[in-house]
Amino acid sequence: MSKTHLGHTARKRFGQNFLHDEYVIDKIVAAINPQNGENLVEIGPGLGAITDPVCERVDKLTVVELDRDLAKRLRHHPFHGDKLTIIEQDALTLDFSSVLANAPNAGQPLRVFGNLPYNISTPLMFHLFDFTTDIKDMHFMLQKEVVTRLAAGPGSKNYGRLSVMAQYYCQVVPVLNVPPGAFKPPPKVDSAVVRLTPHAEPPVEVQSVTTLERVIAQAFNQRRKTIRNSLRDCISEADIKALGLNPTARAEVLSLQDFAAIANAVTDREW
Ligand code: SAM
Repeated sequence: MSKTHLGHTARKRFGQNFLHDEYVIDKIVAAINPQNGENLVEIGPGLGAITDPVCERVDKLTVVELDRDLAKRLRHHPFHGDKLTIIEQDALTLDFSSVLANAPNAGQPLRVFGNLPYNISTPLMFHLFDFTTDIKDMHFMLQKEVVTRLAAGPGSKNYGRLSVMAQYYCQVVPVLNVPPGAFKPPPKVDSAVVRLTPHAEPPVEVQSVTTLERVIAQAFNQRRKTIRNSLRDCISEADIKALGLNPTARAEVLSLQDFAAIANAVTDREW
């Protein structure tokens, strides 16, 4: 299978798998439903598979592209005119609050979308969770396995740190499964599109999100261990029981509410 698409040779280090299936592209654009007056931001526009149809619908679009050659190509694109604002930067370190501050439509939150480079998709999700107050919604193409993890609930083998944190910040709705043949070159894995809508109010009250993140990370770091063992640095067996939780349970059966209860119990402690 050729790695060259529309005259560009795909770079593996940038996770470049270019969409070419029109049916899938139409479905993604329909799911995003971009409108004039919105602050739309695409991560990784690449050769424009999603950028072009979105630009047909709206007057302004901000894109974030790390590959200098692709950014240059977009800059010289004959049809986009002054519709595109191109940020040639790593989305992993981009300050999305400043993207919002410079966005064309004052007072409107960001709507972020993209067919993401799979090699950075999980850290990019965590980076974006820091900006959920600036974001109305996100539509991403990801490895199907990552979408399954984002949407998984307690008791599932796919349930983990990414699931709990994603669901703390956002409503997670899988939208579409996409086979490898929709891309050039085809990735080795199945893909899926997901919609993440940040909650107006978090579904649980926590005194410190940092503590919640630490508790969840520690519990899933040793996911085969009981929480009595994996969390022994921060909470005693008696205190776990006092919260109405089973100390011999594993992290994978605890709900977001359970993690929030533990986090609130240990927020003021040193551990
Ligand atoms: N949107 C195009 C499509 O659907 O055909 C390209 C998708 S391709 C899977 C991922 C895109 O993200 C590439 O254009 C790649 O250069 C870009 N990219 C990779 N790493 C990036 C990063 N850290 N920040 C911003 N863009 C990145």
